[in-house]
Amino acid sequence: MATVRNWQLGRDMEYPYEEHHPARQFAFVFNTNRCIGCQTCTMACKSTWSLSRGQEFMWWNNVETKPYGGYPHNWDLKTLALVEEANPGGQRWSENGEDQKKFEGQTIFEAAGKVAGQGQERVLGYLPTDDEWRYPNIYEDTAKGPKGRRDAIDGEGATLPEHKTWFFYLQRICNHCSYPACVAACPRNAIYKRPEDGIVLIDQKRCRGYRKCVEACPYKKPMYRSTTRTSEKCIGCYPRVEGKDPLSGGQPMETRCMSACVGKIRMQGLVDIDANTGDWKEDQESPLYHLVKNEKIALPLYPQFGTEPNGYYIPPRWVPRPYLHQMFGPGVDAAIDNYVRPSRKTMAILQLFRVTQQIIFKYKIEEGPKIFETEVNGETLEIFDDTVIGFDEDGNEITRVTVEEPFHIREGIYANSI
Ligand code: SF4
Ligand code: SF4
Repeated sequence: MATVRNWQLGRDMEYPYEEHHPARQFAFVFNTNRCIGCQTCTMACKSTWSLSRGQEFMWWNNVETKPYGGYPHNWDLKTLALVEEANPGGQRWSENGEDQKKFEGQTIFEAAGKVAGQGQERVLGYLPTDDEWRYPNIYEDTAKGPKGRRDAIDGEGATLPEHKTWFFYLQRICNHCSYPACVAACPRNAIYKRPEDGIVLIDQKRCRGYRKCVEACPYKKPMYRSTTRTSEKCIGCYPRVEGKDPLSGGQPMETRCMSACVGKIRMQGLVDIDANTGDWKEDQESPLYHLVKNEKIALPLYPQFGTEPNGYYIPPRWVPRPYLHQMFGPGVDAAIDNYVRPSRKTMAILQLFRVTQQIIFKYKIEEGPKIFETEVNGETLEIFDDTVIGFDEDGNEITRVTVEEPFHIREGIYANSI
């Protein structure tokens, strides 16, 4: 095992390979608060990449209802139980400096080999049963009720900050991790991380279908295809990211799932990576940098697993905090505070979600007048009708939107037309 730096854990960790980082990294932010569970993203992916024989159960993008749903069923609970068994009571975060917490527990790499009869040598994991892959959207819209009962409704109604009856949608694709468990586990070296954008791919010619990646990935995003006897996974729509989609005009485009999102919850980017530290290079003009690094309102999914996932989630504001702490780590309270009373910049950047299919590399804000003032959690929130402008990789303007959405009144002659 080599020692590598995992900035999400606030410490070094063990990983089977030496530290090596791409020049840029495929990354994304999902705003769970906005998702309506329509599965348009799921079908956009399915109809593009996994419609063939042997791929019937493959959902590279899925949206599950938490806390009961999951695809494969119980993927997260099972891995959490395994690391807890390897390190009973030790999976904790501690203070480390001003706002950086340090993970004191064990990652799935460090816990490998410590649970009898489970997992493998390099990564602690498990192979889901066929039954667990059968229901991609089991327990859809099923709420957790008072006293932990499923489907029961709390009679007192709902009040923020935490609801007693709750569920939320969790959108999931491959995280194109910085330290992928799938790469670590593959005995054929068939999985690789592209140096140009950090997208993780399975070489179909090298894969022999041993399913070590399926077993190792804590997010269970590689899937086995019986007709080819190989494993397949989300490919980050790399032809679009490379600007090869005919619609893109040669510019990097967002993936199909991001582009199709009806709820405007998704924003994808390519962020510059520091070759020495593996951390994001400072880029104050990048909308993703602002959300993830400046405001820290978007957090990685189960960072404690140690793969340094590159998907970031704005946590659902109404969900009991202990559940969210386990899922997104110790930054949850600050993230929700910053989301419910957003800064002027954050408010503007949130308008950029899903206004163009092209990847927005830079943004700029032109200040507008104050249009609203209210109080949130005892503090003043002012809203300004700023204009936010998005730019492509070459610095060309590709979108321009205002914080206050304009009204368009349809003329009478069109009133009954669609
Ligand atoms: S999410 Fe899983 S499949 Fe995707 S890169 Fe990470 S470990 Fe590999
Ligand atoms: S398309 Fe967007 S809003 Fe609809 S389920 Fe997917 S992530 Fe949620």
